[in-house]
Amino acid sequence: MSGHPAVVMRLVASAYCVAEKAGSIVRKVLHSGELGIVEKTGANDLQTLADRLAQQSICASLSRRFPKITIIGEEELPAEEVKEDLIENGQSAEILQKTCPAEYSSLKEEELVVWVDPLDGTKEYTEASTYLRHQTGAQILHKGLDASQVQSTALWLLDNVTVLIGIAYGGQAIAGVINQPFYNYQLGAGATLGRTMWGMPGLGAFGFQLQEVPGDRRIVTTTRSHSNKLVTDCVDAMEPHEVIRVGGAGNKIIQLVEGKASAYVFASPGCKKWDTCAPEAILRTVGGKLTDMHGNAYCYNADVKHMNSAGVLATLRNHEYYISRVPQSVLQALRSD
Ligand code: AMP
Ligand code: MG
Ligand code: MG
Repeated sequence: MSGHPAVVMRLVASAYCVAEKAGSIVRKVLHSGELGIVEKTGANDLQTLADRLAQQSICASLSRRFPKITIIGEEELPAEEVKEDLIENGQSAEILQKTCPAEYSSLKEEELVVWVDPLDGTKEYTEASTYLRHQTGAQILHKGLDASQVQSTALWLLDNVTVLIGIAYGGQAIAGVINQPFYNYQLGAGATLGRTMWGMPGLGAFGFQLQEVPGDRRIVTTTRSHSNKLVTDCVDAMEPHEVIRVGGAGNKIIQLVEGKASAYVFASPGCKKWDTCAPEAILRTVGGKLTDMHGNAYCYNADVKHMNSAGVLATLRNHEYYISRVPQSVLQALRSD
């Protein structure tokens, strides 16, 4: 890298550190035990103190350094002064040293849109907290599980949680950062928790080892907490060898790029642009694809509708096969924008 890094590289370098800070906030709120849960549209659409603080931290930190960028965060928060200890000023030196793909090297701040999901998998985050509180409280037994089962269920749920920062230009997701705050939980006390993955088409993907599902096995990953008949009909139509139900859009893309699943199938509205922007950028970097159920791309311009109304279909390979299996009932119910 010579001279001054391109704006988009400086933005990704900041987003990397900002996502790490948000991940540490997510861990801290869980450990405090005071989640401050608020229902948004209903019991399956929650917001916690961690969602609020992480979003304040991400948006305030990025907008201070990049005042002309449009930043769209999931949570509707009252405009208030963000506490100084939530501000992250760091930039990843490693990212600053990378060479920006030529097509993005002269982008300006005002041309970029940042989509922020401060905590993806909030439902699983709150459930994990409930399990952990049962374990530390007088009542160890929870749904007939013993203490170690309660602990492992809680930790498994926490691994569904991610922080997502996606960067878009010209309607396309061109870079993404994903922090997984509880990664490495299996290593137990003393282990450093959390990891950060990032990717930019034309430059590369980092922070994970790309793997594919062995052979031709169709392993479908889908929602565990927002299912309905359309979702299950569509999953069945893929004729999967195996179905994995986990929380979080970010987490499901991680499964695709780490060889745990072959397709993420969600034939329902519910996912929003902040759920898919960062994951799509990373997936595209490694040759994958994310579309609606018709095979059409989503647009990430600042003025688009937030809801991904026509569902989400994401794959590392063989996208066309999965598109070809989508039932007529789904295509009729979920119209592309
Ligand atoms: P899931 O796979 O259920 O974890 O969903 C992935 C993302 O989409 C999460 O951020 C969810 O909150 C969001 N989502 C999916 N369906 C819904 C829904 N019906 N209501 C609210 N959010 C949803
Ligand atoms: Mg989300
Ligand atoms: Mg969220």
